[in-house]
Amino acid sequence: MRLFDTHCHIHDRDFDNDRKAVVERARAAGLIGILALGVTAENTERAVAASRSHDIVWAAAGVHPHDAAEATDADLDRLEELARDHRIVAIGEIGLDYYRNLSPRERQLDVLRRQLATASRAGKPVAVHSREAHDEMLPLLAAWSTEMGGRLPDGRPLGVMHYFSEDATSAHRYIEMGFMISVHTSVTHPKASRLAEVVRETPFEYLVLETDSPYGAPQRYRGRRNEPAYVAEAAARVADIKGVPVETAAELTTRNALRLFGIAEPAGVGQGQGEAE
Ligand SMILES: [Zn+2]
Repeated sequence: MRLFDTHCHIHDRDFDNDRKAVVERARAAGLIGILALGVTAENTERAVAASRSHDIVWAAAGVHPHDAAEATDADLDRLEELARDHRIVAIGEIGLDYYRNLSPRERQLDVLRRQLATASRAGKPVAVHSREAHDEMLPLLAAWSTEMGGRLPDGRPLGVMHYFSEDATSAHRYIEMGFMISVHTSVTHPKASRLAEVVRETPFEYLVLETDSPYGAPQRYRGRRNEPAYVAEAAARVADIKGVPVETAAELTTRNALRLFGIAEPAGVGQGQGEAE
């Protein structure tokens, strides 16, 4: 079984004492890829460092909406430079958070727009955080999608809606605009009926999986630190909802992630070759 955790913070301090063991547990669980997302310029550098130390870890460059107020223009320039690094396969974590409002909304919007421009110039997909900000996010990304012609210049999707929390109708809109939908390990929680509905209604070709480690552990490990290996729990639940074997859910979402991030199929894999766009 092959798995890909499309969103985590394995480069953060929570993993400083056992990062290597965490990566090895992930590998043992079948993970062939883990994306570590930056939330500030400095944090992005940590993500890149983690990616250089562990072959299955890739990095994304971004300023999180919580950190938008602190980000300087020099930071955003630095991120744009970093975005050229081949270990950086996405621009993120970027977005809007009107739930916690840790940065002023105007600043969140400015920093988001600036990073969408970075993604356009780098030709790399975005990883979008959107919390209680749907009314503003949808038109903003729709305008960007129109500007981009609905795809990256090389034909890949524009990005991924991380920790998707809206309904199936919204998921469909984002897909039409050129985005993929990321299903978080919280899909295993008993109250995750809206996310389950999104999984049921969304074709497999638009779904990827994530843990957002160390946050939001799946039901089986609830209350503990989440880690990339637990993305298997999300795969099992998605398989259950879709009525397919877990291997199928894992393989399809993994291929989607590889395609989205432009990562070549690891050598020696029989399936999925010749599918790169
Ligand atoms: Zn995150």
